[in-house]
Amino acid sequence: MPRDLTMSPDLDVLNHRYRDNPLGALQYALGESGLRIALVSSFGADSAVLLHMAAQIDRDVPVLLLDTLLLFPETLAYQQELGTHLGLGDIRRVRPDQADMQTRDPASELHRSDPDACCALRKTRPLARALVGFDGWINGRKRFQTGQRTRLDVFEHDPDSDRLKINPLAGFSAADISDYLDRFDLPRHPLVARGYRSIGCAPCTSPVAAGEDPRAGRWRGREKAECGIHIMDGQVFRRAS
Ligand code: SF4
Repeated sequence: MPRDLTMSPDLDVLNHRYRDNPLGALQYALGESGLRIALVSSFGADSAVLLHMAAQIDRDVPVLLLDTLLLFPETLAYQQELGTHLGLGDIRRVRPDQADMQTRDPASELHRSDPDACCALRKTRPLARALVGFDGWINGRKRFQTGQRTRLDVFEHDPDSDRLKINPLAGFSAADISDYLDRFDLPRHPLVARGYRSIGCAPCTSPVAAGEDPRAGRWRGREKAECGIHIMDGQVFRRAS
């Protein structure tokens, strides 16, 4: 059972204290808080930054990769490379339920007709199962990204799951990410060199042109802008049509 989060310090206090201190936010989450916390990573274009910070605090933090079975092979190779580079000791590939897959998407075509249902099948429900026993989870969202992320706090309470969500990089800019990757000479996702700036499942990800929003290549041509694991005000965020 998740612990009673009302025992944690007030979120406003945490957000004030760690607004511009991602390493401090991680130290609090993975240590001082006493909570059971996982880190959810896509092993995408920016993921090395957060994983590098977390590895400085606890190399055995549980790292969950939502393996939808439709990821790029380059992402799975990068997960191995980066995990070894950082010495991460507890990376868990979270896969969809096989029976669910057979019933709802036996031909792996659901992403064409109903991407929301596909994300629910391959991401949202597997993540919910994987988070049982955790009080909260860390993720890599940033304010400069599209849509509702402009309002992102470092610490949030998800009322639906009664879990803490921690966004240590909320205040990072694209330049901060790039500078950090350079400063620590971290391995890059191989698809970045081919124009991919935000990397999810292969059928729903395309490269972006210079000057385009980094997430413009996700679900290109559709209103969909989030996979459903991040709900805001009870809704999955959609692009303006
Ligand atoms: Fe399915 Fe696309 Fe969502 Fe991946 S991103 S789970 S392929 S709809």
